[in-house]
Amino acid sequence: METRTEISSLGEFGLIQRINKSIKTTLPDTVRGIGDDAAVIDMGEEFGLLTTDMFLEGIHFDLTFFPLKHLGYKVISAGVSDIAAMNGIPRQVTVSIALSNRFSVEAVEELYTGMQLACKDFNVDLVGGDTTSSRSGLIISISVFGKVKKDKIAYRNTAKPNDLLCITGDIGGAYLGLQLLEREKQVFLANPNMQPELDGKDYVIQRQLRPEARMDVVYELDEAGVTPTAMIDVSDGLASDLLHICAQSGVGAVIFEERLPIDGQTMLAASELNIGPATAALNGGEDYELLFTVSQSAYEQIKDNPKITFIGYITDQRGAVELQTTGDSRVPLTAQGWNA
Ligand code: ADP
Ligand code: MG
Repeated sequence: METRTEISSLGEFGLIQRINKSIKTTLPDTVRGIGDDAAVIDMGEEFGLLTTDMFLEGIHFDLTFFPLKHLGYKVISAGVSDIAAMNGIPRQVTVSIALSNRFSVEAVEELYTGMQLACKDFNVDLVGGDTTSSRSGLIISISVFGKVKKDKIAYRNTAKPNDLLCITGDIGGAYLGLQLLEREKQVFLANPNMQPELDGKDYVIQRQLRPEARMDVVYELDEAGVTPTAMIDVSDGLASDLLHICAQSGVGAVIFEERLPIDGQTMLAASELNIGPATAALNGGEDYELLFTVSQSAYEQIKDNPKITFIGYITDQRGAVELQTTGDSRVPLTAQGWNA
């Protein structure tokens, strides 16, 4: 009998590794294939970058509380974020959509209005795509092409012992925003006359509905003359994404709980929902901030940038990725997702 392996026995990352094992690239200009935030293509003077992402209704977004305009903005931002994670500049994007007859022309226009806003913000051109029908709600797939100077590229697998670990912005908010939106949805379903209670929660809601790829920081690092030694964008959660950098670079890391940048509104939402703020920050995901390493010599050039927080450092202890807690103990970080 043929063997049947359940996908759940490998998990998403295990499955990608399994696919990767059987794929060999052969072209001389394919510099990097599967394994980083974007594929890398030699274009002579510069490297080209190519990344793709798919978003499914019911899996990645719930249209009962996700306005289509925001959704359009978010999918472009998420794609641009993978180019930012290579220290690159996004240029062109293609968008494919699958729709059921539940959607009107006006709904599709709303979606594209949001995408065009993001294209304007990140200075990219929407240059194509594909349209098809769907039996299971809305599906959006986006691909982004970008560029980077060869000596400026930042991979995941090049962090070095003693490098400083940095993160942009603040984390945990997008996850808590989602929890609040889902709570309000349940309240509404139970009693449609109830008004949503989202006053004073605009920041965390916005973190979930309309995240901004950190192209601003990519430009600021360039102006400061700093190239990260390694970089990834925080889409799955700080813990999971730091584990990717460490595993691929063959290093370890220590991060400090007290250093985790958590916004005041995120703190309030965490306490209201009875979720540890550090847990949300470590495992929340969808923040689309940049997690990167720099050599110690870069400290002076970026230490005064308010968008950058130093959260720890890289060690030569391969596989040991640890959190120094506020209680002064060291615990290993795990990539545990919320639904694991
Ligand atoms: P990200 O979260 O940055 O988009 P992913 O975790 O989705 O990255 O993917 C990690 C790597 O695996 C990327 O290089 C991506 O291109 C590749 N990858 C993911 N799914 C597939 C697939 N089905 N076939 C080939 N490569 C894949
Ligand atoms: Mg990524």
